[in-house]
Amino acid sequence: MDAYNPCLTCGACCACFRVSFYWAESDLAIPDGVPHHLAEHLQSHYLAMKGTGSRTPRCIALLGTIGEGVHCAIYLKRASVCRNFAPSWENGTVNEWCDKARLIWGLQPLDPTCWTNPGKKEIRRAA
Ligand code: SF4
Ligand code: SF4
Repeated sequence: MDAYNPCLTCGACCACFRVSFYWAESDLAIPDGVPHHLAEHLQSHYLAMKGTGSRTPRCIALLGTIGEGVHCAIYLKRASVCRNFAPSWENGTVNEWCDKARLIWGLQPLDPTCWTNPGKKEIRRAA
């Protein structure tokens, strides 16, 4: 059984920031790359996930309800910027961008116990 993952009840970072990546990460260059029809040209050799350049960003590949239940429709093909975005405390350190995204969506930042106590209600709203 997979370890408990608080991202599955969050999704905030997929609806806060522009998600850009080098075009060669797309399926224009590699068969299992990011589906290019879900991205748009950003500048030079860079693409961005559709929906993330909006004033109210939300990645086109994000399914579900933020703060309740979400998943990435292209999880196995997501870009390196997504793969490298570590949730706070997953590896014992804070990711200030994770915390910031959660606060924007009214969710309290993760704390270390979110990874060790699956019964904890980590999606509680920020005060
Ligand atoms: S904001 Fe943090 S907890 Fe939420 S989905 Fe992104 S990495 Fe996971
Ligand atoms: S591709 Fe997936 S992980 Fe990356 S921002 Fe979009 S929904 Fe989130």
